[in-house]
Amino acid sequence: MSYKYYMPTKIVFGQDCIQEYSGLFSAYGKKAMIVSGKHSSKTNGSQEDVTRALEKQNIEYIIFDKVMSHPTTNCCYDGAKIAKEVGIDFIVAIGGGSPMDAAKAIALLAKQEISQKQLLQGEFEHRALPVIAVPTTAGTGSEVTQYAILTNDLIESKTGVASEVIFPKIAFVDPKYMRDLSVEITINTAIDALSHAIEGILSVRSSVLSDTLAQESIELFSRCIQSLGEAKARNSIGVFNDTIRDMLAKCSTLAGMVIAQTGTTVVHAMGYSLTYFKAIDHGRANGLLLAQYLELVNEKEPELVDKILHPMGLKTIQAFRELMNTLLGEPETVTIEEIERFSEKAVNTGNMNNCRVRPTQEEVVNMFKVTFK
Ligand SMILES: [Zn+2]
Repeated sequence: MSYKYYMPTKIVFGQDCIQEYSGLFSAYGKKAMIVSGKHSSKTNGSQEDVTRALEKQNIEYIIFDKVMSHPTTNCCYDGAKIAKEVGIDFIVAIGGGSPMDAAKAIALLAKQEISQKQLLQGEFEHRALPVIAVPTTAGTGSEVTQYAILTNDLIESKTGVASEVIFPKIAFVDPKYMRDLSVEITINTAIDALSHAIEGILSVRSSVLSDTLAQESIELFSRCIQSLGEAKARNSIGVFNDTIRDMLAKCSTLAGMVIAQTGTTVVHAMGYSLTYFKAIDHGRANGLLLAQYLELVNEKEPELVDKILHPMGLKTIQAFRELMNTLLGEPETVTIEEIERFSEKAVNTGNMNNCRVRPTQEEVVNMFKVTFK
């Protein structure tokens, strides 16, 4: 079977990597725009590290710190307007998925005049400002993907804008920025990363390369399970030492490299409605749904499930389900009417074409019902 593998992002990983490799910024110009959310990049040290590195390289910068969770296109247009006015050469994205995804859209919009509809439908020229990414959570993997996931009010869901030109040029992954993340954010983002690795294995676009990365990512997650469970039980981040933060960061970046090749599956498609309409965290939504999709896959292609459970050190899907229940707690309430509506949305997404085991609408309804009974 043929496959392709393309991942042009230079990954620099490790403690204080921005200071150590600050010279890398100078290849992208003399004027940078830092794109971030309002607070966390200022408290976790990432913004300071970036500004110090830019100053060291005599690069001017402005800060656009207006990205909220679940970025809208309006925010991206605002950022692009400023980038054009100031004549920005490149963007440094700092944050979780939201600032990184917004930064990628800003990078595209700074190079062209297109409507919101054109942006969300992929009708644009593949030109963009270079983006350098500094992840401050371990989950999205956006630092190594060509996707910008944006809130799309036109279809009441999330839309992934994709272009090879928005692969970050560099990903500076420093786990120290993740030290103070809460128990809830740590668990939800870790499960998002796990979901990326698992869905990569379940994708029609998987290959020996993506599977290798996915299984390593899953194994890294499994080595953190005990700490994640203890943190949840004690409601304390004390157990997340630097070794754990380091493994979770690697797990996330590897899983991002997986979905850059494979895309995601019905799990993400179903999860998007839970996030859009019910404000359920993205990683949590995936985690709640995963076991039920594994059951369906197991009926048709059980060897795929083995590929996932084996690196987790688990023997059964039931054990996987119990693990998710322990880490995530009780699921939210979702009504039958909501389930019908979310299922219809899910089966009409491009993600369905990615599924090696493609569920029918009825099976999607059933997955929701069993999960949120
Ligand atoms: Zn995700």
